[in-house]
Amino acid sequence: MQQGTINVQTENIFPIIKKFLYSDHEIFLRELIANAIDATQKMKTLNAVGEMKSNLEKLQVEVILDKAAGTLTVRDNGIGMTAEEVEKYINQIAFSGAEEFVNKYKDATDQIIGHFGLGFYSAFMVSKEVEIITRSQKPNSTAVHWRCDGSPNFTLEETNKKTKGTDIVMHIADDSLEFLEDDRIKGILNKYCKFMPVAIRYGDRTESIDDPKGEKDDKGEIKKVQVKVPNIINNTDPAWCKKPAELTDENYMEFYRELYPMTMEDPLFHIHLNVDYPFNLTGVLYFPKIKNNFEIQKNKINLYCNQVFITDNVENIVPEFLTLLHGVIDSPDIPLNVSRSYLQADSNVKKISGHITKKVADKLQSMFNTDREDFTSKWDDIRIFMEYGMLTEEKFFDKAEKFYMYKTTDDQYFTHEEFIEKIKETQKDKNDKIVVLYSNDAVEQHAFIESAKERGYEVVIMDTQLSSHLLTRLEGKHNGVQFVRVDADTIDKLIEKEDALPSKMTEDEQNELKPVLESVVEDGKFTVVFESMSEKDAPMVITENEFMRRMKEQQMAGGGGMQMFGQLPETYNLVVNSNHPVMAKILGEKDEEQRKSMAKQTADLALLSKGLLKGKDLTTFIKRSVDLIN
Ligand code: ADP
Repeated sequence: MQQGTINVQTENIFPIIKKFLYSDHEIFLRELIANAIDATQKMKTLNAVGEMKSNLEKLQVEVILDKAAGTLTVRDNGIGMTAEEVEKYINQIAFSGAEEFVNKYKDATDQIIGHFGLGFYSAFMVSKEVEIITRSQKPNSTAVHWRCDGSPNFTLEETNKKTKGTDIVMHIADDSLEFLEDDRIKGILNKYCKFMPVAIRYGDRTESIDDPKGEKDDKGEIKKVQVKVPNIINNTDPAWCKKPAELTDENYMEFYRELYPMTMEDPLFHIHLNVDYPFNLTGVLYFPKIKNNFEIQKNKINLYCNQVFITDNVENIVPEFLTLLHGVIDSPDIPLNVSRSYLQADSNVKKISGHITKKVADKLQSMFNTDREDFTSKWDDIRIFMEYGMLTEEKFFDKAEKFYMYKTTDDQYFTHEEFIEKIKETQKDKNDKIVVLYSNDAVEQHAFIESAKERGYEVVIMDTQLSSHLLTRLEGKHNGVQFVRVDADTIDKLIEKEDALPSKMTEDEQNELKPVLESVVEDGKFTVVFESMSEKDAPMVITENEFMRRMKEQQMAGGGGMQMFGQLPETYNLVVNSNHPVMAKILGEKDEEQRKSMAKQTADLALLSKGLLKGKDLTTFIKRSVDLIN
């Protein structure tokens, strides 16, 4: 038997490994299973180059939990190791590698993506002792038995082992007993190993099959019998590893359900990524239906490295808007043992994220080109995604702008170009600006929308969390186009065609009426302004200045640099149509009380159509209206 001291300068790296390196101790199992898979994959390679003939069908990794003995074993029938190889790969290279790793990252451990790269040593995070029992596939090899208790001292001796391959036996430490629980192990296997490329067995399960003796039950049907079968926990050939041509839409759906068994809703469509030059990238991305509260829907993409699950947080790897998608990205070219901030600067990561962004834009473009009807039917569900991408990625904006859809209040869909073409004559103002009228709430702004339509104007719906930001961007991009919310001004002023009509009311008369009108609306919230509109327009309208309102919205959304406006109060204009007969009537009424009551009724009507008349004020209004009819 050989005894020795592991080649490390730091007296004891294990306590460091244990305490600092991994916040998630559970990944030890992934690391060991990944090694076991590698060892079996190497058998395949040897077989392929003709160096060895063995039965590849039976290649398998097994995880064995023995709670009574306090051990967890990872067994493979892969290439195994000779004594020299254990010396070389475990005692020397690997340990010195671990030390280097610890030194480099002990201050930034949480940032190491997926905590990958420590391999075999991670076993010591949860074990008081680790044994390796291994026999090399090389002819006439003797099996060896290595033991280490977490100090730098190990023993290595010959042993008996009939089969080729390696057993890693972990004697679970007293502070890690959770890893002797069946449910915990199942959970870890499901999280990290679900799609690993070699069958992984974890115990047995019972299956019901037709009775092999062919016995029949009362109804004459063959009886079912329960049999024990190996419990294989993974799908070794997941959809993203196949060629797109081999898969039907239904296969993609099945895979989605396999990925997210808890998600009820089906995705809208998918993209299959498959690149092998200049970087390696495979994956399937799904477009889910995205609701308005999209923050909670982020980070469902799973990052894999050669079918080994790394993380479900792809922040800094793909552009932020793509984190709204679901699915899998698998790339061995994403560096794993580096910090998140370093990742973004990595040239492979840049290329990969650029590629994905392009693929996503191309997919949407081709859907728009080939089946526009289908595309628009999905529009409401992908709209936020589009807006998010357009606002945050310049390159995406440039492509997406060609198929970003304006949806009108009549449920018609237009691209920017088509829409501008449609309205460029009717909605051009006296300064030659093309005014796009929009509504963020078709119910609340119904009256405004109706009066715009009466003028032959189109109104588009901009009602997502991001619309108001996007339209500022669109204005910046297209000189001569201006977005104005349909309730931002009175109909004549929304799109100012020509100079205002002459006013029927004199300035003196307006001054006489002004205090009366001010007294019937809430103090400080409304500014009374007179406008000479058409007699057919409403006698009074409540408007909200477009500029001030957008400022306020952006301030609420936490936009930077808005502090100078302080906490902007809600302010409205009470616009009085000085040409409306009702106004003439109020002016003509000499009874103080009666005049006020008429003014109040008219102002309340304006508030009502703006959705601002509520509670007690609404009740009083209804009562007063009933009295008027009586
Ligand atoms: P890495 O896997 O990153 O190389 P590890 O510390 O996990 O680092 O493993 C070191 C080496 O030990 C591996 O490269 C491999 O040669 C060998 N090894 C580890 N586990 C096994 C195994 N189950 N079967 C055969 N060789 C193994």
